[in-house]
Amino acid sequence: MKGKIIILSAPSGTGKSTIIRRLIDRPELRLGFSISATSRAPRGEEQHGKEYYFLTSQEFSDRVEAGEFVEWEEVYPGTCYGTLKSEVERVTSEGRNLIMDIDVKGGLNVKRCFGDSALSIFILPPSLEELERRLRGRATDSDETIARRLGKAEYELGFADSYDEQVVNDDIDAAAEKVADLIKAFIKSEVISNK
Ligand code: 5GP
Repeated sequence: MKGKIIILSAPSGTGKSTIIRRLIDRPELRLGFSISATSRAPRGEEQHGKEYYFLTSQEFSDRVEAGEFVEWEEVYPGTCYGTLKSEVERVTSEGRNLIMDIDVKGGLNVKRCFGDSALSIFILPPSLEELERRLRGRATDSDETIARRLGKAEYELGFADSYDEQVVNDDIDAAAEKVADLIKAFIKSEVISNK
């Protein structure tokens, strides 16, 4: 495997997707986004093969059975997300660093699996109140979904300390910059240790 793995986890609504979008455009980071498979339906403008590979629950479990996943989790009851082995191969074989947006259990599993070849970063919201305000502002989810995501957020925040690095997103520009610096340092330290 030529590229390295960058694991980004954060409660939904913390700005993680925005940070990833900004970082992907930076040539010096040589990133490739890991497109996960999910059994949930597309939201808003999401497209198959761009944000996710959207599978039916049956297709998802067939591919689990076939051993096609590096990891997968039932992130919300009845809704599964996972990283396909083919996706890790697609990005890293080109020498790009794979950036993964995955939940806390998946993130810690991948870190365990790839050890020093992976950097795990947790993005924190300034507070739970601010997170709720951001989720409501997004206007794509129902009240029930928002309540579910907030409950999940509290649970996920308990795992932040198990990540290599934590970054608070109280300003999106500063947070994206901090994450970029961490990735740069990680890529550089890998190059030096390989000499
Ligand atoms: P959303 O439905 O908001 O796009 O994502 C819900 C959650 O699923 C997020 O916490 C996201 O990080 C997580 N997730 C996305 N892809 C994967 C994956 O491949 N594996 C795991 N374990 N979690 C994922």
